[in-house]
Amino acid sequence: MRIIKTIEELRPIVKGWRKEGLSVGLVPTMGYLHEGHKSLIVKAVSENNRVVVSDFVNPTQFGVNEDLASYPRDIERDAAVCEAAGADLIFHPEPEEMYFTDNCTFVDMDKLTKGLCGKTRPTHFRGVCSVVTKLFHIVTPDRAYFGQKDAQQLAVIRRMVRDLNFDIEIVGCPIVREADGLAMSSRNTYLNEEERQAALVLHKSLLLGKEMIVQGEQDAGEIKAAIVRSIETEPLARADYVEIVDPDSLETIDIIEGRALIALAVYVGKTRLIDNIL
Ligand code: AMP
Repeated sequence: MRIIKTIEELRPIVKGWRKEGLSVGLVPTMGYLHEGHKSLIVKAVSENNRVVVSDFVNPTQFGVNEDLASYPRDIERDAAVCEAAGADLIFHPEPEEMYFTDNCTFVDMDKLTKGLCGKTRPTHFRGVCSVVTKLFHIVTPDRAYFGQKDAQQLAVIRRMVRDLNFDIEIVGCPIVREADGLAMSSRNTYLNEEERQAALVLHKSLLLGKEMIVQGEQDAGEIKAAIVRSIETEPLARADYVEIVDPDSLETIDIIEGRALIALAVYVGKTRLIDNIL
């Protein structure tokens, strides 16, 4: 498995694969890989002849006061994870390789990017759509793999691919959790022991909401209120948002009659964590 740092080196490799008639899968990541990422890579390997993992902490998706500088990075460990999962190549560019200093072109989206995480991270999805578009153009994959963990991101990417006619199949993959229910995330490394325990309130509260729906509750307001109360029982946790939305359009649901996504963001200490359940 090779680690490639430039677009110039990557393109002929992918073109060579294409000439041989091989299919290509792409798994976009920001690195510091865990079992959640690995599940995406394993799925990509099972469905494509060649798999590229991009490993790039994308500056344009971080807000000014966010954790770009402190975001965890470990390319050697990532390479071992990719190798074990069967990936063929890691694309690991420097920011200067991905962005010209006078870059002034971005991909933006209305509606789906305005609610949920878009409320507190107004420029985040512009950065995500822009970098994913660039990766799609650089790698030209047949399929690209995204986790349900970032449910809004998955819906946004699906919509972008539809609206802009990318000839790429988007494959959504289930959330991988720790044994105690915490959704795996590179940001979990920010949590101290006490916060790590407190973070269990996210999944616990989502399960409570799901159980209410299973028991027949249809009023989204009642369910959201119960979830917020559940989060408030944890002194180290503070809800950023709790929303119940249509999983595709991300429009708010008031009365639950069909598929629904319960999505939340919660500060545990200073760390903002997201989780969701369908
Ligand atoms: P990130 O490196 O956090 O940008 O994530 C890269 C990809 O891995 C995204 O598509 C995420 O949704 C996905 N991912 C991250 N954590 C998990 C998880 N716990 N389970 C499944 N997919 C995940």
